[in-house]
Amino acid sequence: MASHPTGSLESLRARNSRLVVDVLRTQGAISRAEIARQTGLSRSTVSSLVTDLQETGLVLEREPDSSPRGPEGGRPGVLVALDRSAGAIVGIDFGHDHVRVAIADLSYEILAEGSIDREVDDAAGESLDAAAALVQDELMGAGVDLSRVLGAGMGLPGPVDRSTGLVRSQPILPSWIGLDPVAEMQERLGVIVHLDNDANVGALGECTFGAGQGSRVVAYVRLSAGIGLGLVFDGVPFRGAHGIAGEIGHVLVDPNGPICRCGNRGCLETLVAGPALCELLRRSHGELTVPQLMQRARDNDPGCRRVVQDAGRVIGRALADLCNYLNPDAIVIGGELATAGDLLMEPLTAAIEQFALPAAAEGVSILPGVLHERAEVLGALALAGTNSAEALTAQVHTMSQTRRSS
Ligand SMILES: [Zn+2]
Repeated sequence: MASHPTGSLESLRARNSRLVVDVLRTQGAISRAEIARQTGLSRSTVSSLVTDLQETGLVLEREPDSSPRGPEGGRPGVLVALDRSAGAIVGIDFGHDHVRVAIADLSYEILAEGSIDREVDDAAGESLDAAAALVQDELMGAGVDLSRVLGAGMGLPGPVDRSTGLVRSQPILPSWIGLDPVAEMQERLGVIVHLDNDANVGALGECTFGAGQGSRVVAYVRLSAGIGLGLVFDGVPFRGAHGIAGEIGHVLVDPNGPICRCGNRGCLETLVAGPALCELLRRSHGELTVPQLMQRARDNDPGCRRVVQDAGRVIGRALADLCNYLNPDAIVIGGELATAGDLLMEPLTAAIEQFALPAAAEGVSILPGVLHERAEVLGALALAGTNSAEALTAQVHTMSQTRRSS
């Protein structure tokens, strides 16, 4: 956690207040003792901060339900939780063929969720309009006024330059190139928007709510029309110097392989992304979509099984290198190809074990994602939640200062 620039008592209090809000945000209803344990603050400091938060109306006391949280399992104390009226957050996931939206309170309780099918790549403006309309619909469905939304997180299926906020000019999202998606969405919704690419929000989703929970160094691999990698270290996405980290789809696998959309040849993506696998089957099986291919593989079609197993080995070989570089404690496999289950996971895991340095391979859990098609939208919520906590504690701080001086 970054240290506060000034060392004054007030800023220390604001920082501690932020810690308490963070715990409440991620843990839901929790006792004061457990907050003290998780933040490392003293019980008396926690009590005083919670009293502050209660007076601002952002935190409520709640009777414990029958199943107490916490590992000690002793007598449950009175719990405190963020008041639902403290604010809502919005997650928006743009896929190549869909827009998905979720609304949650600050404790990540989902209040509404919905999606629409649409081609996102070629019509940026219309897709942004459709997403904004879907957000409005879901907010209305959840009975949440837009004025209560503290922020939105948004995932895009393409590289975003962190320094400019623009979609990088690569032939991935043609109509989005040069567009500032944050400004566009803020204009449509009137709330603060935070943006990341789909692999990073997927990684954040699995780390916050799914298979990556409890792991410190997590690599999330998204196997779909493209191959993406999201890295999360101690809960924080790693984006590289300019936001382009994680382009595992464009590592070289076969120098004589097909030309890639990036201009190189034989990239991982040209060999194992969904469309490349369908292409391999065209002569024997005719035109297949990726979901059809996965279904046939699960139904024991020999050609489809072979394609998925071979892909698993190739991907595992690339992930073995990743283990050597990063020594992750979890690799979570998501995206459309992950729906093949063990058929993909077994050869993938075997290749990691075979090609990674034994010490690097031993400690890593290779896990199927558990959030499936919701990983990205839930990660977008987590992106909004983390960033909104900052705004929220600033608000608490101002409110408590105003109260003290009045
Ligand atoms: Zn490439």
